[in-house]
Amino acid sequence: MRIAVYPGSFDPITKGHLDIIERSAKVFDKLIVAVLINPDKKGLFNIEERVELIEKVTNHLDNIEVDSFNGLLVNYMVENKAQVIIKGLRAVSDFEYEFQMALVNKKLNQDIETLCMMTSAKYAYLSSSSLKQVAMFGGCINDLVPEEIIDDIKMKLKK
Ligand code: ADP
Repeated sequence: MRIAVYPGSFDPITKGHLDIIERSAKVFDKLIVAVLINPDKKGLFNIEERVELIEKVTNHLDNIEVDSFNGLLVNYMVENKAQVIIKGLRAVSDFEYEFQMALVNKKLNQDIETLCMMTSAKYAYLSSSSLKQVAMFGGCINDLVPEEIIDDIKMKLKK
């Protein structure tokens, strides 16, 4: 069974992330979307909320699992019998960072491959942080996040 892991902060999930999830789900038997727990970074949503939002928008896909993890990604991969790390690439700036991470992960475990999927052009500008900025200042986020979670984001920002 070919199992891939798509790791990230997903604070919150955007249409750009969902696009990568839908496309990679077609290529693998199972895709685990794994929310990275970073104690140093307090996000807008806590880890449980991020997992819930991802579950909400991936309901239509049956080979997706949503989880969270801390520590080394390669260890998490082994624990879950996953062989491939999926990364989304938007711009050259993403490439440099992902290239370095892929080499480090390869050094740690030679059996694990990193595959980068190019963003769909319509989401090339989209990141969780730009989405949060637009939402915070009352801009329209309809094209940026899946419809099912628009209210969750608006509610969170009202608090
Ligand atoms: P963000 O940069 O949005 O805060 P994350 O840390 O949650 O993203 O990223 C998780 C993964 O999703 C990374 O591999 C990132 O490059 C990818 N990604 C994020 N936004 C997009 C997008 N619009 N198109 C393609 N890939 C994306």
